Amino acid sequence: MRHTFAIFIGLIFFALLGSCEAPPATEAATEDTSEETVEQEAAEYAIVIHGGAGTITREDLTPAQDSAYRAALNAALDIGEKILQEGGSALDAVENTIHYLEESPLFNAGHGAVFTNEGRNELDASIMHGAERLAGAVGGVTNVKHPISAARSVMEDSPHVLLTGKGAEQFATEQGLEIVDPSYFYTERRWNALQAAIQREEEMGEAQVELDHDEKKGTVGCVALDKDGNIVAGTSTGGMTNKRWNRLGDSPIIGAGTFADNATCGVSCTGHGEFFIRWAVAYDVSALMAYKGISLEEAATEVVNNKLVEVGGSGGLVALDRYGNVSMPFNSEGMYRGYARPGERVVAIYKE
Ligand code: ASP
Repeated sequence: MRHTFAIFIGLIFFALLGSCEAPPATEAATEDTSEETVEQEAAEYAIVIHGGAGTITREDLTPAQDSAYRAALNAALDIGEKILQEGGSALDAVENTIHYLEESPLFNAGHGAVFTNEGRNELDASIMHGAERLAGAVGGVTNVKHPISAARSVMEDSPHVLLTGKGAEQFATEQGLEIVDPSYFYTERRWNALQAAIQREEEMGEAQVELDHDEKKGTVGCVALDKDGNIVAGTSTGGMTNKRWNRLGDSPIIGAGTFADNATCGVSCTGHGEFFIRWAVAYDVSALMAYKGISLEEAATEVVNNKLVEVGGSGGLVALDRYGNVSMPFNSEGMYRGYARPGERVVAIYKE
């Protein structure tokens, strides 16, 4: 900005001196060579993931749990990174990385998803491709092994963006996706979390949806940038423990839990979905970059650590831009997260 202003003042000065060579001020502004407009070289590829945000402190996890989560995050990154290293697409990297996280019982997605008040697992997922803003999502599916693949199929094989419930299941079946008995998603840990939530509800006498407490969250998400400059973002979740009435959170909502645009960034969110929907969190990060011309880090931090904090929306997000810059802000105690770029690997859990 200061540079632009200095150039502007300089132009006025030369104009006053009677120079006819001076370009109009607007043209000068587009030729601004200040830091913001210097083209950064894009990374060959980049991938960033999360496994949920919440009350996750060092004291909460045993050393064995800590290393199990780190190992799972690394294994997930290995899958996506290999695809990207071999020249594969961001779309395949995101889908396959999320497959791994959906199969892991550690995370609140696929096998290991949280339970609804009725004792069911209702799964939500979405995916978005940044080239043409194509997107697909499913909400409240109960028998699709990999909801993220159902979301991809909605994007690629249907004229729609969001399918829910029985219709989404019928579509997934017709597309030949893997269908499982709903008991596949059961884990004792999440079942116990539901029982605890119901008991707390009885004690408090009002409906409680649980984001934190003992079950430590675990929505999963992945954003990848491939060698062609395509950015893809995906998110998969069981939602919130003890949810009712076919509640959908932000995860299957494009613009809320997931967003991607090759011109700006890709974003996958985790946190209290109702806030993420109302604050259009994933889209807001992209819009701030587009309209304000600010960096990914500035935009993501503004949304998560200012806007959401002001209103009490807990959670975080992972994002990357077209250069492969990564941002992983959260306003909770911790967030399972990590990223990989050529020669670089980071996996983290707590506020470090
Ligand atoms: N955002 C998810 C939801 O509200 C939950 C989470 O990320 O933990 O459904």
